This record gives sequence, structure tokens and C-alpha cells, in this order.
Amino acid sequence: MIVHIQKILKKSQKGGYAVGAFNTSNLEVTLGICRAAMRYQSPIIMQVSEATIEYAGIEVITAIVNSIAKGEAKNVPIALHLDHGHSLEIIKDCIKAGFSSVHMDASTYPYEENIAMTRMASDFAHKFGVWTQGELGSMFGKEGMSMVKLPDDPDSFMTDPSKVKDFVKRSGIDALAVSIGTMHGSFEGKELIDFNRLKKIRKNTNKPLVLHGASGTKDNEIRRAVKMGINIINIDTDIRIGFTKALQKTLSKKISFYDPRKVMKPSINEVSNVVGHKMTIFNSIQKI
Ligand SMILES: [Zn+2]
Repeated sequence: MIVHIQKILKKSQKGGYAVGAFNTSNLEVTLGICRAAMRYQSPIIMQVSEATIEYAGIEVITAIVNSIAKGEAKNVPIALHLDHGHSLEIIKDCIKAGFSSVHMDASTYPYEENIAMTRMASDFAHKFGVWTQGELGSMFGKEGMSMVKLPDDPDSFMTDPSKVKDFVKRSGIDALAVSIGTMHGSFEGKELIDFNRLKKIRKNTNKPLVLHGASGTKDNEIRRAVKMGINIINIDTDIRIGFTKALQKTLSKKISFYDPRKVMKPSINEVSNVVGHKMTIFNSIQKI
């Protein structure tokens, strides 16, 4: 069932576990994510990016999520969230479509501009009872096909703990995306979380903290981050890899059918397996 993100987060903060924010882009990925939630009795945040909205259309992707949430996934809490919104227009569209949470990503702008843009999104969203996620510090990683090179000095791009209090207060956000060592894309075993930085950030705010770029990060690093106060963990790339690898495997076999439903089935199942594994790491299983 579709619920407000606040309901999911309130419970998870009390329970000391994190909730996965899983990116969907089509019917099959949505089914895979929802079926993992049902199998593991876990709450989920279903998130879409601007690229998905461009690909599927906001009405279509929202209708897919809503109808599955009302149908076979009616017993698990699902919150709709916009991942990396870059303009007030897209935020308005998502609120109109029934999202309970939106991410205003103005993190590439100078500090004061980031605050001003995020504040504008928060003020608008709050009129409709919708949560805003703001981002302090920059996320690096894969943008399209090219790898963005990390600057040598982590202080130049990671979240500055000393700015957290001021940023949260003045931007009016409900959740904070932090840059603490993970990167967008999957870099198996190469991403190390700066736990000291996380500790300082956690001390400076009681708002839910969001870890982006967690695909490819080692399970024990994630577990430790959850214990230290990460509340939401975004997973996109690992889902895409699971989906595509399963599809490649299906198509590499000699198949005697030309039925998209049969072709897609192993990919749906693999998305469920990937998402289910994350849920066990986040400790969100049996929490509905
Ligand atoms: Zn992200």
C-alpha cells in the first residue's frame, strides 16, 4: 500500500534499521522490487529519477507503482520519492502525481545557493505535506558512461559536518543526503565510508540521513553505517546490473519462445533477489 514516507521513517528510526530506496524505471523492475518487499515483509521507498520520468512519463510510472501497491503488494508499506530533482518544476510535477517525498539536489551550487534553492522546494512541498530531501556535499561517480575523477582532498567535496546544523535549519529539509565516501555507480569493494565523518554528521542533526551511491559498497560497511545512524539507502545500479545480466543470460540460451513475458521473468526474479539481499543488510526485513 502507498503510505507517506514519514510513517516508514518514524518506525525505522525507532527500530534502528534502514529502509532501502530502490530506483524503478519500468513495470518489470517495479514488480521485482515489490515482490522482494512482500517476500521479506519489508517497507520500501520506491524512487524514480528525472531520467525515468523522461523515459516512461510521470503518469505511467506512477500508475504502475500505485496499481501494484494497491494490488499484490497491498500489505507492504511503499512510499513514492523523487530521486535527484534538479528543478522546482519537476518537484511540482511529482507532488501533483502523489509523491510523499522529493529530493531537491542543488548540491553542485555554492552553499548559499544550495540553501536558497532547497528552501524554495521545502516551502512548496510542505504546503502539500510532502517531505524534502536536501543534499550537502557532492556525490561523484559514473555520470552516463564516463567516470568523474574524484578530487584528491575529500574535504573539498564530502559533507562538512560543521555545516550540517545550519544547512538543515535554513533549508527546511526533512531528510539529508550525505556524501561520505560512496559513489554513484558500482565500484565493487572500492568505496570506503568515512565513518568518522558520519559520526560527526549524526551528532549535528536528528533528521533522517540518506546514503546515496550504495551499490557496490561492501555489506559490512553498509551494516556499520546503518548502526551509526544512516536511515535511508539508495540502490539503483545493483538493480540495473541484476536485471541486465539476467536478461543477457536468458537471451544467450537457445530459446524456443518469442514471448516478452517469458524473456523478462528471470530479470524480474533477479531484481527481487538483489533487493531482498539489500533488505537483509539494512535489517528492514519483517518490519511491516
Ligand atoms: Zn544519488
